[in-house]
Amino acid sequence: MAQGSWYDADIDHVIISEEQIREKIAELAKQVAADYAPVADGLLLVCVLKGAVMFMADFARALGRHGPPAELEFMALSSYGQGSTSSGVVRIRKDLDRDIAGRHVVVVEDIVDSGLTLSWLLRYLESRAAASVEVVALFRKPDAIKVSVPVKYVGFDIPSEFVVGYGLDFGERYREVPYVGVLKPEVYARS
Ligand code: 5GP
Ligand code: MG
Ligand code: MG
Repeated sequence: MAQGSWYDADIDHVIISEEQIREKIAELAKQVAADYAPVADGLLLVCVLKGAVMFMADFARALGRHGPPAELEFMALSSYGQGSTSSGVVRIRKDLDRDIAGRHVVVVEDIVDSGLTLSWLLRYLESRAAASVEVVALFRKPDAIKVSVPVKYVGFDIPSEFVVGYGLDFGERYREVPYVGVLKPEVYARS
């Protein structure tokens, strides 16, 4: 871990290190590459901004080493909810740039917690007549078991704590932290 970065002082403990993330992404990319090897027209990766942006960048490059060609698409959604809990009522802030009818889609997700946003997204992508839709999520929390969201590829099962880093924010900060960790309690008290 890099010493002396501004954020190190705010992190209570690291949950997943940079190296663990790198290794896991290489594994996930190999699995996806093997499963989609027969797909002739390539894959369409759909990243939901902003949390999955780091994962998208690293996963797409790892997939490029083994897999079929991929196109990168980005969506932005806002979910109306009470504070930090998502409600499952979703509005599209940025839609796909292309028609996905007949295409094999892989949703690249940062973390599945309640799974409400993701289950809305899967219905939306299916309504746009994708040939197939699967999900690769880097992190999954225990609550995700309660909803029946089919997540085919999962990086890490993590405890039900609020984490930051590797794209995940607290008040739009800490996304650039290269590992995933838990903030010190005083960081919350400060804000
Ligand atoms: P869900 O709809 O599955 O409850 O979660 C939707 C989104 O909430 C995730 O894609 C992620 O952006 C955010 N989220 C869930 N858990 C965490 C967490 O522990 N830390 C941060 N920073 N964001 C989270
Ligand atoms: Mg997300
Ligand atoms: Mg957030």
